[in-house]
Amino acid sequence: MKIEKLKVVSVTYDLRTDGFEGQIIESATEENPLKFIFGIDMMLPAFEAQLEGLEQGDTFQFKLAADDAYGQPNAENILDIPIDAFNDENGKRQEELLKVGNVIPMQDNEGNQFYGEITEIGENSVKMDFNHPMAGKDLYFIGKVIEVRDATPEELDHGHVH
Ligand SMILES: [Zn+2]
Repeated sequence: MKIEKLKVVSVTYDLRTDGFEGQIIESATEENPLKFIFGIDMMLPAFEAQLEGLEQGDTFQFKLAADDAYGQPNAENILDIPIDAFNDENGKRQEELLKVGNVIPMQDNEGNQFYGEITEIGENSVKMDFNHPMAGKDLYFIGKVIEVRDATPEELDHGHVH
């Protein structure tokens, strides 16, 4: 069975950002593969385009340019947050959160959650980078197709793999 729209696909992969020989920054193993429904925008379109038509047991190796992956970092996604936003409900500053390099979930006014990395701590504000951690990076995937099967009606209804 070939990978095509509405198939449930399981793959292993190693992801690198500095070439096919570089350091692995993310993996999916045979014990814990990446599973997704193909063709419903769960995955990057360029990622899916590389897998389309493959079958169980096929291996793959491809590079996604940053522009086809998570795009380029945008200066508008670097924000100054008032330092009081890091107080707990009693108004006490959560000092343990305030470290350069910490990645922290933040909420906007509508309750949407975004992860931002602290890049600078000032007296009254904290600079946070909300760009995707892989923005600006080329992605190098090496992996194998573990399984291809039809999605069940329930999986299609829910929009995720059971
Ligand atoms: Zn479900």
